[in-house]
Amino acid sequence: MLLRRLSEAAGPSGFEDEVRHVLIEELRPFARKMYTDALGNLFVETGPPHGGPRVMLAAHMDEVALMVVRIDDEGTLRFRPIGGIDERVLVSKPVRVGKDRIPGVIGSKAVHLQKPDERKHPFTMDELYIDIGAADGEQAREWVQIGDFAVFATDYEEFGERKAKGKAFDDRVGCAVLAELAKRSFQLPLVFVFTVQEEIGLRGAGPAAFRINPDLALVVEGTLCFDVPDAREEDAVTVQGRGPALTLLDRMTIAPEKLVRWMAGVAGERGIPYQWRRSGAGANDAGAIHVARRGILTGAVSVPVRYIHSPVQVVDLADYTNTIALLEAILRRLEERPSLIDRLRKRESPGAPGSGAPAPARPRPDVPGPTEPGPDG
Ligand SMILES: [Zn+2]
Repeated sequence: MLLRRLSEAAGPSGFEDEVRHVLIEELRPFARKMYTDALGNLFVETGPPHGGPRVMLAAHMDEVALMVVRIDDEGTLRFRPIGGIDERVLVSKPVRVGKDRIPGVIGSKAVHLQKPDERKHPFTMDELYIDIGAADGEQAREWVQIGDFAVFATDYEEFGERKAKGKAFDDRVGCAVLAELAKRSFQLPLVFVFTVQEEIGLRGAGPAAFRINPDLALVVEGTLCFDVPDAREEDAVTVQGRGPALTLLDRMTIAPEKLVRWMAGVAGERGIPYQWRRSGAGANDAGAIHVARRGILTGAVSVPVRYIHSPVQVVDLADYTNTIALLEAILRRLEERPSLIDRLRKRESPGAPGSGAPAPARPRPDVPGPTEPGPDG
């Protein structure tokens, strides 16, 4: 299964090679054109080269991870984070180091040996190390080099009611959604972009958007989900099982209202469940894409991921398939009515008839998604 292969592939920011390789092999038979750029972004073009709106779909290949910065004479490895990792989740986790996937475990002082004061605080990254079972530093240096990455050693597994657990669903679930869409035939010039270095500051997506210059960009992301008992809906951000989440706002974007309402309308019309992503926290590649060139119409559709940025993340597989269904429905509408894109992109211009009209209401974060039929065009 593709989601398993993508989840288990190693791809820290700047080291996305394994993930890119999986995608190239998977999509080669379906691509009209496939290429990479100097940063490592992977571009897969399908459909006709012209005719109809040029749509860029983006998902990032990279994951949060660690980098080896010192090899002790005792043979243990000291590390620094690549991307946002909560150091409290690191203790006792199995990892794989470098391209050779050397097995290791993140070690710390046993609870018996901790002084009462030490027990009050979680270990910081400086107190942790990776144990690769080496006899000494000399042996460790034969196996590992400074600058090697370490990723969590988590196997993909399906469990419970339609759930899957694994590492890096942020954003391999988005990569898997894009790959499934790239295999379907659309009479639209589509460019699937698998971006690099999102986790360390949305670095691949901007140059990719500049290159493609799309009429519309859709970012597919694995997003925050804290749908635990007692959490208020807006604190949960998203709820698993309620379908793909449409972004209203995050730390770097305000969703274009016309676009997000239209996407909700398509979902309502096709009976595909959806929800609003209700938080100003977090950001994704949309933050870089919408400000590329002279501004690009950009929306974000997300699969809720519990325990994001940790060694074991959880997705609901129905959310995953409904995200594919929603994006397919959106692309089919554009295929049927290419002129829709002009309406979605149009903003009132100064002096145009009706320029005195009041602005339409903004999307309301407190409106429950699935029951609300959005306007459609
Ligand atoms: Zn992400």
